[in-house]
Amino acid sequence: MRIVIVGASLAGATAAATLRDEGFDGEIRLIGTEPQLPYNRPPLSKGYLRHEEAFEAQLVKPAGYYPEQRIELTLGVRATAIDARQKLVELESGERVTYDRLLVATGGRNRTLAVPGADLAGVFQLRTVEDCDRIRAAIERGRRAVVMGFGFIGSEVAASFRQLGVEVAAVEGARVPLARVLGEEVGRVLAGIHRDKGVELIMEDSVEAFEGSGRVERVRTRKGRVLECDMVVAGIGIVPNTELLATAGAHVDNGVLVDERCRTTLPDVFAAGDVTNHLHPVFGRLRVEHWNNGYQQGQAAARSLLGGEQPYDYIHSFWSDQYEHSIEYVGFAPGWDRLAFRGRPESRKFLGFYLERGIVRAAVGLNRGGDPEDPKVEGELKAAVTLIRNRTPVDPAALADEAVDLSGLAARTR
Ligand SMILES: Cc1cc2nc3c(=O)[nH]c(=O)nc-3n(C[C@H](O)[C@H](O)[C@H](O)COP(=O)(O)OP(=O)(O)OC[C@H]3O[C@@H](n4cnc5c(N)ncnc54)[C@H](O)[C@@H]3O)c2cc1C
Repeated sequence: MRIVIVGASLAGATAAATLRDEGFDGEIRLIGTEPQLPYNRPPLSKGYLRHEEAFEAQLVKPAGYYPEQRIELTLGVRATAIDARQKLVELESGERVTYDRLLVATGGRNRTLAVPGADLAGVFQLRTVEDCDRIRAAIERGRRAVVMGFGFIGSEVAASFRQLGVEVAAVEGARVPLARVLGEEVGRVLAGIHRDKGVELIMEDSVEAFEGSGRVERVRTRKGRVLECDMVVAGIGIVPNTELLATAGAHVDNGVLVDERCRTTLPDVFAAGDVTNHLHPVFGRLRVEHWNNGYQQGQAAARSLLGGEQPYDYIHSFWSDQYEHSIEYVGFAPGWDRLAFRGRPESRKFLGFYLERGIVRAAVGLNRGGDPEDPKVEGELKAAVTLIRNRTPVDPAALADEAVDLSGLAARTR
């Protein structure tokens, strides 16, 4: 049997490795547009951007792994079409690659920056290591940067820039950073952290134009601010790379639709990672852009490719590191009617529980709660994962009460 994987990044490479871990002995071919070996992106806004980590340290698997495991890599080549009837993938090189089962893990690309002056030198977006290398080359202590959009990428880039001695002004439409995901109270705390570090936060405003002769020299905002700068990084979100699957006839709606076993609507075609809008037994349909999902769903898709019938029911989680602060989040809460805090938000060391009709949908820890992914840590967020999975109403006062043991509370909801 031959399994072909399109998209050679986190989800694709993890799936390839899992196929071998599960004992699959057939052919595996991993095809990707980027010329580098599959690598992890989180350091691109953190340690790698700050020259603290080498690129080799962020590889999904070391170079020798692929030949050892007989995983054939075709890098620097785009897949241009899928013919699901004939079971073949066309590459831009003209090659036609046949498959028995296909996994698509094409992730996402940066949203187009539709602002006048976006093509000026010094205006950057960040998705790939090459994007990051261009930004690194432009960084010098004392330079002035404008960060456009203060979501996770924007706030992490701002933090790294400040750590490198770059002046930062950030322009964001919302009232406080990350309010849509984390809520106003948590957003206010994060705003305080960035202001304390010297970031000028310009909220409830948007970028109207980049100006300069050949190179960006200033940013003009809708409310009339003029921000002199040497560089701009826009973190305005991604769009999923669904065209390949949509053209082949798969159902697509904010990502390619997959069922609980990572199956698209095309026969023998599966998908994993940022590109999927997947059906989840706890959260319903959702698309997330989290490293942990790329890793976990890559593994789940591999098992499904081999005929496994286990639904993908991982309780989603992500992290973000900004300065000395770490944010850990578990669950998925597009809305909530109550946010209960354990620890005062102003202390910058707390847990927040997002509840809907008494049921915990998600929880966030700022410098508290432990990494829910770390098997060695029996942290509070592990208890939150149980609460989220069990969907049993809990008393918000108990969540907030430091005297109540969270693991015990979670165990009682089983
Ligand atoms: C700067 C940065 C920092 C991040 N930090 C965090 C973090 O702190 N925490 C967290 O949880 N998440 C973080 N993320 C998100 C995380 O990196 C993504 O969720 C993860 O990369 C998704 O993996 P993926 O394999 O699904 O997709 P991607 O990483 O997008 O990879 C898709 C691959 O498919 C290739 N491809 C696309 N189309 C084709 C085609 N037609 N033919 C062949 N190849 C194709 C692409 O070139 C790419 O290599 C960060 C992302 C970025 C950019």
